Amino acid sequence: MPRFGRQPWSISATRSRHSPGLFNSGRTTSLILKISLLLIHVVIVGFLFLFDEQLIRKTRSEPWYTAIYLALFAATLVQYFYTSCSTPGYVLDAMTAYNDTHHAFLSISKSSEKSAPSLVQSSISSMDGRPSWKNKSGTLTTAWVKQLMDLYPSGTSTRSWICAYCQTLRPPRAHHCADCDKCILKFDHHCIWLGTCIGQGNHCRFWWYIFEETVLCIWTAILYICFFRAIVEREWWQNGIAIILSAILLLCLIFLLSILIFHCYLILTNQTSYELIRRHRIPYLREIPEWEHPFSKGICRNLYDFCCSRNSLCAMEPVPTRDDQEERSHITYVN
Ligand SMILES: [Zn+2]
Ligand SMILES: [Zn+2]
Repeated sequence: MPRFGRQPWSISATRSRHSPGLFNSGRTTSLILKISLLLIHVVIVGFLFLFDEQLIRKTRSEPWYTAIYLALFAATLVQYFYTSCSTPGYVLDAMTAYNDTHHAFLSISKSSEKSAPSLVQSSISSMDGRPSWKNKSGTLTTAWVKQLMDLYPSGTSTRSWICAYCQTLRPPRAHHCADCDKCILKFDHHCIWLGTCIGQGNHCRFWWYIFEETVLCIWTAILYICFFRAIVEREWWQNGIAIILSAILLLCLIFLLSILIFHCYLILTNQTSYELIRRHRIPYLREIPEWEHPFSKGICRNLYDFCCSRNSLCAMEPVPTRDDQEERSHITYVN
């Protein structure tokens, strides 16, 4: 189940869940889920190699077939841990990287996590109808702030770009994850099975993991169908276990296929799960009709951006203005 975060008024509850201590329930749950997932893989596949005589015979006669299947099995697990250990793209890291790149640090520490609150204590003033961020000495700070000002349309409420939980200045499409207690670039959802957020930095890896897992699931389902169709005498408990495991496999397959199709749709329209499901909670998207995809640049470009250029922390998309929207609607209508 994807998680999308909490409301600002539940901040105390959120913080208390992340308070340091010997027992971190979040990490323990994540570890239990990871071990469970690993065990499900090993048990479902291992059963076939122990009790499917047809598969065992085929492994001896055609070892390449089993080798490819096991390679896919290993690649899926590697991809799982690779995605699980990946960073979803934290706003604070992007801020540090951006400021480093543009040599515009003033008095802000490079250790971004601790420096962020100091920004919050600064004051906000209005310049040409746009919010601008000033430090205590009244000087406009950092290239990051300048960049953010260009990403939001004129007149956008500061509430849109200041996180109510961690007080980070964030670009459009970023959102605070209650489980990670950080703002995530192009936040999609928090995956409890992976124990990490899915965002700008790892959405592509996540898609590949779901794709590999789906292919593995389909192939394993075919092996189970062959197992049931084989005319071989077996113990009753072997058939019983096979039926239970194939039922689990079928549920996993339905779940994976649904996620894969859903994320293909998101990628082709340049949306995130959060934007699609909680659109009414995003102030700068409320005015845009639900059938419009404000960040979409066409299927081919969306696909290219997703695969090739969205891993960069500094790649940020501006919120389209009303004029941009009208122009795009006109082009679509004319075509
Ligand atoms: Zn935040
Ligand atoms: Zn998270």
